[in-house]
Amino acid sequence: MSPRRRLAFALTFALALCGAPLRAEEAPAGPPPEGFFPPPAAAPTQGEGICPECKGRGTVESANRAIDTGPDGTTFVVPCPRCRGAKRCLRPLSAAERVSLQRQARNAYEREQRARRRVPVGAGFMDRAAAEALEPVARAALAARYPKPCRTCQGLGIENCRKCKGQGKIEKIERVEDEEGETQIKPYTLPCAECGGSGSQPCRRCEGSGLAKICSRCDGAGVTDVPAARDRPAYTTLCRSCKGDGRR
Ligand SMILES: [Zn+2]
Ligand SMILES: [Zn+2]
Ligand SMILES: [Zn+2]
Ligand SMILES: [Zn+2]
Repeated sequence: MSPRRRLAFALTFALALCGAPLRAEEAPAGPPPEGFFPPPAAAPTQGEGICPECKGRGTVESANRAIDTGPDGTTFVVPCPRCRGAKRCLRPLSAAERVSLQRQARNAYEREQRARRRVPVGAGFMDRAAAEALEPVARAALAARYPKPCRTCQGLGIENCRKCKGQGKIEKIERVEDEEGETQIKPYTLPCAECGGSGSQPCRRCEGSGLAKICSRCDGAGVTDVPAARDRPAYTTLCRSCKGDGRR
């Protein structure tokens, strides 16, 4: 069997065990093997930050005439209903914020793993002895189960929409004349047509897969075959370029 066929076989077996196709964002089901330390989980989709409603002011202008005690038509300032005046609140994180959190988590994880002298296997790290005990094909299959993430999006597969800068909406202003004939500026927002209001687009580097590029030397197999020579039989070894990851 060629290394690719063998990898395909090992992968089919691994997938049958964990029961689901793999994506960079989801940790594979089933416990990781002994001596393997999985990468950090995907960054949360929500987090605390500056309140988007009042933009961190803590107050908003009310134009509710029913409760307005001032002259007709005037606005007055009320505590922001979203953050209740706290200026910060739990809100959806933009793609760029999530990628930044993921990068921080990844960097901290890598520092710790390297300090413990573990070796990278796919997106994870492994005790050196455990990694060296693995057959090349098994090591490549493990790396494929925890695929190496795209450096740009850190495995999330997304980046901020370039049109709305991750906001999901476009702020516009409208000039309207009031009863006295004075021009008033009325801000309003429209959902961003480019991203459908989500604020994110697929990462351009990995086209949204969240994965590092396939290694061209081994074609993603992570292993290469060394043909037989007069003094020894053919054998399979870790790819020199990607060290078994199949991605670089
Ligand atoms: Zn607020
Ligand atoms: Zn957009
Ligand atoms: Zn990417
Ligand atoms: Zn390779």
